[in-house]
Amino acid sequence: MRGAAGRAAGLAREALSALASVVIAPECAACGRALERPDLGAVCPACWQAVRRFTPPVCPACGISVSPHATGPAGPCEACQSGARVVSAARAVGPYEGRLREIIHACKYERRPSLAGPLATLLLEAGREVLDGADVVVPVPLHWTRRHQRGFNQAEALATRLGVPVARALRRTRRTRPQVELPAGDRHRNVSGAFGLARCAGGPPGRVRWRRGARPLAGRIVVLVDDVATTGATLDACARVLLEAGAREVRALTAARVASPRR
Ligand SMILES: [Zn+2]
Ligand SMILES: [Zn+2]
Repeated sequence: MRGAAGRAAGLAREALSALASVVIAPECAACGRALERPDLGAVCPACWQAVRRFTPPVCPACGISVSPHATGPAGPCEACQSGARVVSAARAVGPYEGRLREIIHACKYERRPSLAGPLATLLLEAGREVLDGADVVVPVPLHWTRRHQRGFNQAEALATRLGVPVARALRRTRRTRPQVELPAGDRHRNVSGAFGLARCAGGPPGRVRWRRGARPLAGRIVVLVDDVATTGATLDACARVLLEAGAREVRALTAARVASPRR
């Protein structure tokens, strides 16, 4: 009985979807072609398929693909060899380009938080190692004025879908320019001191709560979550605050990473 009802509902949904594709003709948020099945989401299956991933072996520190090592595990990439990072290990789905970039843009600037669901599925795949043993995930915060403009924080929309308790542990203490718009030399200064510990982190179930004086991050393994990492300066600035608050280790997981930031 339920099976028949389910099939009927499925057929009705497909029929409505077909109707919608003719009447409203919504376009894929990434490639702009008409969506054959708008009910499957704002981005067409071909675009999801075309998302480039960082394939193993990846740099253990930042997660970008590196050339295979003859023997033993992959070593750090060139950028990670030269600079000490505060984040112990970072992973990302793929480079910040092509379809992935279009999808992230659509999610963030065209206000399509519904894209966070399928994006988070990709994050779960790419982030297996950094999520392993994690106690809590912390989204990189937006300044409250920007969050107000956008209506949601894309980092938080991703963080809440990773199956790990979420703590809104950080706040942005001042507005900063998007890192991707800046030359490499200015990025560190742009975010340095721009983050602080949130005064409270209450909210819906699944979130880590704390009271004044409590140290909920003490001894915890924390995973920072964001949509894009450029040089990693933002992640490092956030990690410093979390380590100061007692976190044992800070890792990071982002949807995309700029694979060769301009130095
Ligand atoms: Zn498309
Ligand atoms: Zn690296």
